[in-house]
Amino acid sequence: MIIRLSQIVMSACLSFAVSAVFAQEAPRKGDPKLTEYWDPPVRVITPGKTAADAPSDAIVLFDGKDASKWKAQKGGGPVKWKIEGNALVVEGGTGGIETKEGFGDCQLHIEWRTPAVVKGESQGRGNSGIFLMGKYELQILDSYNNRTYSNGQAASIYKQTPPLVNASRGPGEWQTYDILFTAPTFQEDGTVRTPARITVFHNGVLVQNNTTIWGSTQYIGTPNYEKHSNKEPLVLQDHGNPTAFRNIWIRPL
Ligand code: MG
Repeated sequence: MIIRLSQIVMSACLSFAVSAVFAQEAPRKGDPKLTEYWDPPVRVITPGKTAADAPSDAIVLFDGKDASKWKAQKGGGPVKWKIEGNALVVEGGTGGIETKEGFGDCQLHIEWRTPAVVKGESQGRGNSGIFLMGKYELQILDSYNNRTYSNGQAASIYKQTPPLVNASRGPGEWQTYDILFTAPTFQEDGTVRTPARITVFHNGVLVQNNTTIWGSTQYIGTPNYEKHSNKEPLVLQDHGNPTAFRNIWIRPL
């Protein structure tokens, strides 16, 4: 409460100070310390050597070897996807995988690769997806020279919002998503208080800019919200194609 009050006082002081500057270029006087707050100090972490490396406070969900933070969606047992090289590869027909832990607001880094040998077209090429909270799909697809519906291509919020640009690399190349996700909140009666929001960088390029998510992903019909808890498992989709994943880490916010 003390922090809140000091922040309110600070923002009031700041807005007064800003309006004073614009109004008449007032001479600087008074105590500059009035607009400083020191506590709490900002937590220190160690960033990765590159932006792709997990910083010290991330939960590493897959490091190239160990998939024990995941379970099969069907039946809840160990994941049936293959670990090949440093990658976790979708084993078509075994179903999606989900984290054992639930997540809400988060920063998520994930690397993925669609098959080098191109088979199929449109939605049939390297299709997978990241279902935030198990409900809201950020599409994974080989969208390199592969036209499909715009709100179904790579980096779309599936069947909702196309990406701002197509920043896809070619089939067989590793690609990155860096995601900032804000979970939806609900009223007690189950209606939405605030919808989910998502910002996504695809291979370092902004493709979703604080986009509103209109509800859980629907293949047929329009998205809608159903009240759920503030932490739900992260899901990776089995769409039958051997799409690969590596270097997955998350920072709950
Ligand atoms: Mg998909």
